[in-house]
Amino acid sequence: MVNWLNDSGPLSLAAALIQVHALYDGLDAEIDFHKPRCVASGRCCNFEEYGHRLYATRLELEYFRHAELAAPADGPAADANAADGTGALFPLPLYAEDGQVVPGCPWQVAGLCTARRGRPLGCRIYFCDPTSTPWQNNAYERYHRLLKILHDRAGLPYAYMEWRAGLATLLEGPAQENK
Ligand code: SF4
Repeated sequence: MVNWLNDSGPLSLAAALIQVHALYDGLDAEIDFHKPRCVASGRCCNFEEYGHRLYATRLELEYFRHAELAAPADGPAADANAADGTGALFPLPLYAEDGQVVPGCPWQVAGLCTARRGRPLGCRIYFCDPTSTPWQNNAYERYHRLLKILHDRAGLPYAYMEWRAGLATLLEGPAQENK
């Protein structure tokens, strides 16, 4: 899965994103093995109500851009988004009328995640099943460490951002390629 670990040379951003994809595949297989239960049915994506926050690394946000923003979103508020001046093709607006980020994730539509391909490590790994906490914590640390190494290899400054703050950075344009 992580054949790049044996190599210390630089990676292009595109190559790093392919490795993020492989890393997520490995993680998904690991999660399948543990078979955690989801009992809150997406309530954890409503961060304020649920009482927690989601964070993602800069490279994951770039992966999200490629996986989810390449084609126009077709969710119910796509037109409203295009009209709100942000240029964001998110299924629901990122900003509320008062200019603050919305409560919850703008990719959860009618209780369902519409960003299954691109969702970051924190979304993939989090299950409210209390019996899953020990392996979740361990896996999060391991995969997060690999993501940090990938930042270095791609020459991408490491950043770890609250999810909606990170989504806002996607509006500023793609990360610069490693030369
Ligand atoms: S990306 Fe999907 S799983 Fe992650 S917080 Fe948003 S709606 Fe939930």
